[in-house]
Amino acid sequence: MEVNVPVTDTGFGRFFLPGPTEVRREILEAMLGPMMGHRTADMEALMDRIQPGLRHAFRTERPVYVAPSSGTGMMEMAVRSVGQRRALCLVNGAFSERFAKICDLSGLEVQRIEVEWGDYHSPDMVEEALRDDEFDTVTVCHSETATGVLNPIHEITEVAHRYGAMVCVDTVSSMAGSPVETDAWGLDFVATGSQKSFALPPGLAFGVAQPAVLERAAANTQRGLYFDVLEYERNLEKSQTPNTPAVSLMYAAAAQMQAILEEGIENRWERHRQMAVRTYEWVDEMRGRGHDIGILAPEGFRSPTVTCITVPAGVRGTGVCAALKARGYIIATGYGKMKEDMVRIGHMGDHTLAELDEVLDNLAAVLHEVLAGHG
Ligand SMILES: *Cc1c(COP(=O)(O)O)cnc(C)c1O
Repeated sequence: MEVNVPVTDTGFGRFFLPGPTEVRREILEAMLGPMMGHRTADMEALMDRIQPGLRHAFRTERPVYVAPSSGTGMMEMAVRSVGQRRALCLVNGAFSERFAKICDLSGLEVQRIEVEWGDYHSPDMVEEALRDDEFDTVTVCHSETATGVLNPIHEITEVAHRYGAMVCVDTVSSMAGSPVETDAWGLDFVATGSQKSFALPPGLAFGVAQPAVLERAAANTQRGLYFDVLEYERNLEKSQTPNTPAVSLMYAAAAQMQAILEEGIENRWERHRQMAVRTYEWVDEMRGRGHDIGILAPEGFRSPTVTCITVPAGVRGTGVCAALKARGYIIATGYGKMKEDMVRIGHMGDHTLAELDEVLDNLAAVLHEVLAGHG
């Protein structure tokens, strides 16, 4: 049967968006399994195949919720579970702003600590706000995909706990590519999605809540229905989900979790770290050749999964991406208000250094063309 595919499949190693990321053929093919009823032993067995890899990636002993939604759904579950009255929202880009909006629309009183795009939140900043005022909830984005900044979530969580606040963490672009110690760091609610560093198709969200969150949630009448954490928890005790699971995506997840267990999460983190370092070295090399490019995030606070490279004045992010696309490689423009000011490379998921080198070589050629005025 001919499948109607709208784009040419160029083979693995050319698609470097910071989400969705490239999915290996083997994982796509795993989705061809048959449908099954969601209260069957087969479905429970499928959930049981997914859990060990997920817990390994999250570094948790807790069950990992699997929801048929994108990552934002799990962020909403986090807020509806943890939020009581007042949320302190750390905003340093578009996704952390989304967390603040969810709090707002969930009826919480929101105060933002807003820093420039490209900046991070220091634990001191958070402490100052918590000392001055009372908050029950803090929201923070670990890897802000709009800027490539990695926030120090471990230290921020320690500060929050000292003031009795619980922390909702957006790890959509960091989980499975960057160290996240859900249990050891005491992260209260951790939310992520399938289509970033997990290198799965979009459409699943994963999350973990610590037991204290469940207690809070039980007293919270604004949990809603679809993303009610207590329903997820209760169903997962039987390896089930509250509503119809995305069966096909869960086949893919089972195959990918097996691969992640085989690779080992620490090796996976190290592979991502190496790809990030290679990208920084490449930027230095380009600067050495006189190209006025840079990395938006400050040293020490860079995400191992996504790098935002600022482009020289007069060059447009969309122009660079289009020229690279003509060579067969996909990277992203800047996000939102910074669309034309940079390009973003998602060195995450199942890519390796060899594939990254190829895209960087081509990006070098594009920059040369564009800056020479031929682009
Ligand atoms: C992609 C992303 C999201 C949004 O996830 P969806 O799956 O599109 O809902 C949220 N936060 C971060 C940091 C992201 O990278």
